[in-house]
Amino acid sequence: TRERLQQLALVPSVTPDGMTIELAANISSLKELDSALRNGAQGVGLFRTEFLYMDRSRFPTEEEQFEVYRQAAEKLQGKPLIIRTLDIGGDKQLDYFELPEEDNPFLGYRAIRFSLNRKDLFKVQLRAILRASAYGNVQVMYPLIASVEEVREANAVLEEAKRELAAEGIPFQEKLRTGIMIEVPAAVAIAELLAEEVSFFSIGTNDLIQFTLAVDRMNEHIGHMYEPFHPAVLRMLKTVVAAAKRHGVQVNICGEMAGDVRSMPIWLGLGIHELSISAQSILSVKETMLRTNAQESRFLMEEIFRYRTAKEIRERLERFHAEEA
Ligand code: PEP
Ligand code: MG
Repeated sequence: TRERLQQLALVPSVTPDGMTIELAANISSLKELDSALRNGAQGVGLFRTEFLYMDRSRFPTEEEQFEVYRQAAEKLQGKPLIIRTLDIGGDKQLDYFELPEEDNPFLGYRAIRFSLNRKDLFKVQLRAILRASAYGNVQVMYPLIASVEEVREANAVLEEAKRELAAEGIPFQEKLRTGIMIEVPAAVAIAELLAEEVSFFSIGTNDLIQFTLAVDRMNEHIGHMYEPFHPAVLRMLKTVVAAAKRHGVQVNICGEMAGDVRSMPIWLGLGIHELSISAQSILSVKETMLRTNAQESRFLMEEIFRYRTAKEIRERLERFHAEEA
């Protein structure tokens, strides 16, 4: 079946009734980009840049980062490349830079909070991303956004980086698209307000499920409580999509939930623009999309939103998946 699936790499991702969702890849290295492209990825929806920072004994220079981002942009030949700024902290640590010891690192000093506190380092990364934007369809995305102020502050650093590059005569894409991860319940609650500030949302279900359900995604004792199909999670998704649609903002999904074939009618039913998933999941998700009807998915979602438990929802999705097979 591996070979059968591989033949789908060049087949467009469209449902039998003509709806399309782009299938992009989550990557953390150029090597992963190669396998994503072999599997027919239509872009990169999440470039996790942490690994560029974790793989060495000091912070990567602008030049080192630019080189990697530029190569990724070139390999993609005009397909979108969404580069997420550093999401360090939580489960991801740096050997050469001591982050404070924290009781609750996932709720702590991480991601955009770190970048906004270390604007010197943040600007180095943004300059590298901007420079790479001259070589392809590069977009920038901020992680763990919880307020409008954070987006504005991050964009102010981006504008400063643009002014510097312009003054130095270094080329970049002036209209670089900016987006944010929606992965904190606060961001869901103010999605209407955040939509005014950015071009796209990418829902990070890994963190959003963790924070919505107050279930540590790394804690094995409560692993069974980490439930993507919890009615609260589905309502979060629905709220974000509705706000985004009202403001003409694109919505992507980039958490692991996007790679679960049982979720397909959720994405079709809500009208998601792009799923960003690991290279290994692209073909099985595409295979599912090719035989899932979008209109039936919309009806299914109306039904699903009437269910009161995750168990009912999960079982209904499993039945639907089996019937579409
Ligand atoms: C997420 O939280 O869903 C996500 C994609 O980001 P990460 O897994 O890197 O935290
Ligand atoms: Mg996350």
